[in-house]
Formats: sequence, C-alpha cells, structure tokens
Amino acid sequence: MFKGILINKDEQGYHAALQNIDDNTLPEGDVSVNVLYSTLNYKDGLAITGNAPVVRAFPMIPGIDLVGVVEHSNSSQFNIGDIVIQNGFGVGENHCGGLAQKARLKSEWLIPLPNAFTAKQSMIIGTAGYTAMLSVIALEKNGVTADKGEILVTGANGGVGSFAIAILAKLGFTVVASTGRMEEASYLKSLGASDVIHRDTLSNPGKPLAKERWAGVIDSVGSHTLVNACASTKYGGTIAACGLAQGMDFPASVAPFILRGITLAGIDSVMRPIADRKEAWQRLADILEPSVFDDIAKEIKLAEVVETANQLLAGKVRGRVVVDVQAD
Ligand code: NAP
Repeated sequence: MFKGILINKDEQGYHAALQNIDDNTLPEGDVSVNVLYSTLNYKDGLAITGNAPVVRAFPMIPGIDLVGVVEHSNSSQFNIGDIVIQNGFGVGENHCGGLAQKARLKSEWLIPLPNAFTAKQSMIIGTAGYTAMLSVIALEKNGVTADKGEILVTGANGGVGSFAIAILAKLGFTVVASTGRMEEASYLKSLGASDVIHRDTLSNPGKPLAKERWAGVIDSVGSHTLVNACASTKYGGTIAACGLAQGMDFPASVAPFILRGITLAGIDSVMRPIADRKEAWQRLADILEPSVFDDIAKEIKLAEVVETANQLLAGKVRGRVVVDVQAD
C-alpha cells in the first residue's frame, strides 16, 4: 500500500481524495518508480475537480508530472536508483500519474533528470515550464529575435506564464505580461517583465486588425485573448498558442494571417517526441537561474492537493505548486 490521490466516478458522483492505495491499482509498465515530487498543473486542477473530462479511466491517480527514483526496471535504458522525469503522454489521464508515492510507467515516456536540476526543481518546472520552453523555441524557429520588439505573455501569473517571462527575459527579450491580477505586478517584474497590462484589454471581442504591437506572443489563455493577440501582432510575427484558461474557442478573422503574414504556432507538450523534450529540458538547464525557483514555487503535501486544485482553477494560485508526495 502507498499514499496517493485517487479519483473515482461511481454512484456517489465524481470524487478525489487522499487514500491508501493498493499496489494492484497501478497499471502495466516496465519501470516502477518511488515518486519524490509531483506538481499541480491547470490540467491536474481540471482532473481533480472534474471540471472537464480530463480523466479517461477510473479509478485514476492524477498528476501529469512526476520525478522519482527507479525501484524496479525491465528496461535496458533505466537502472535501479536512476532519477527520472515523467511529463504527459496521458499519465494522470488514462494511466495512473504522479500524485502518489508510487508509479508504474513505460520506459519510452521517461527522461533522465538533467544534472542541472534537483528533483524538486524539475517539478517546479514541470509541464508548465517545459511548455513555456517549447513555446519560446517555437518563436525562435519562426525568426522572432530580441531585436524585433515586445513579446506578449498572457496568463502571466500562471505556471506557463511565469516561466515564459523568466525564460524570455533571460534571453534578452522585452516582455509585456498580461494579467488579471495587477497586484502581482511587482512579482511579474521581478521575473523579468518590462511592463504589465490588465488582461481585460485583451479578453473581449475586438477588431480583426488592431494596431501592430507584438513581435511575438506566448498565449496560455485562448478565446478572445488569443484572437486579439493575433490582431495586434506585427507583420511577420508569431504567436505560440498553448492554453485555454479563458476558453477553447477561437472566434478569429483571417485578416492578420493574410494581410500581415503572422504565424500561429500550436504547442502540444503531451505527445511531444522525446528528442524535443530533451532539447527543451537542456535549454531550461542552460537558461534558468537557480533563484527563479524560490520566486515561482510554493510547496504543499498530498493532503493539501484537492483544496489547492480548487484554488488553482479559481485563478488564486501564483506561479507553480510543487507537491512533496513523501511528506506526512
Ligand atoms: P495556471 O497556473 O492555472 O495559470 C493560468 C493563468 O491563466 C492564471 O494564473 C491566470 O493568470 C490566467 N487566467 C485564468 N483564468 C482566466 C480567464 N478566465 N481569462 C483570462 N486569463 C485567465 O495554469 P498553467 O498550468 O500555467 O496552464 C495554463 C494553460 O496552458 C492551461 O489552459 C493549460 O491547460 C495549458 N497548458 C497546455 C499545455 C500544452 O501542452 N499545450 C501544457 C501546459 C499547459 P493571471 O491571474 O495572471 O491573469
């Protein structure tokens, strides 16, 4: 038996709670891991609260991210004692995930913990930080360089937003943070934002083409915010779309695409090939300053996960939440 969050859907409805879980609950996998840390991402919030149909099989241990020590391996790639990271690949959705003390996983999903990071730091980054890095790489691949002008980051106080600001600032970009929490402006500036704007300036229906301002955008919000970001992107600019915190809709016009040649780059972290993951984690290791982890993260225990998931979806969590799954 081990401790973890278990989600069930039965005659009592949809419920998630901290429980003692039998080892037999864990699905097939060639690598068994003693989990050290997990995290709470937006998707974990949806899974734990049941606010969206993220979980595809029951009972389910949520947690799309984990770092842990290999305690049994039938894979030639990983040995007992190795520290590995798991992000996505449906873990926490259709295969039991990281918000528990044990996990059984497929070796083809795992990457070794980069030397630059402690286990805890890797989960402060988690899917949010790794997705922020994938988004920055997408801007770079589309020719967005620091000299081209301002980069807009939406959902700035969230996990993706916070890491996007820190990464872009360290790379020399001028970053404008969009947030609903102007009271956190000093936090966003400490991460590297040059300017902070209220998200209401972007979240309502706007014109098909607006004044050109952004050389690039990292958007974790979707809906009208993404549409307005496209409408105000400069000629030839790129928008990396990675989230849906405002909504999944995209009520847009083709005008910015056909008149300004902008590029909308879709970012998926879940099924991303291992080579791209390794590139993103290596870039994170090269770019991030250790001090960023203290600024961005808050640590909780498994017993606090359900309550914190509700706060996350209510937009009350700043930065990242790391979960010490072994703490009492
Ligand atoms: P998070 O920590 O909860 O951050 C989301 C942020 O979005 C909030 O902090 C808030 O920032 C803003 N926000 C919330 N509700 C909003 C609304 N109604 N309108 C406008 N802004 C709103 O979540 P996260 O883990 O960073 O994830 C952010 C998004 O990216 C989620 O939609 C998630 O599903 C998605 N995501 C996608 C991938 C992928 O593979 N494509 C990977 C990771 C995450 P402010 O308080 O600063 O306004």
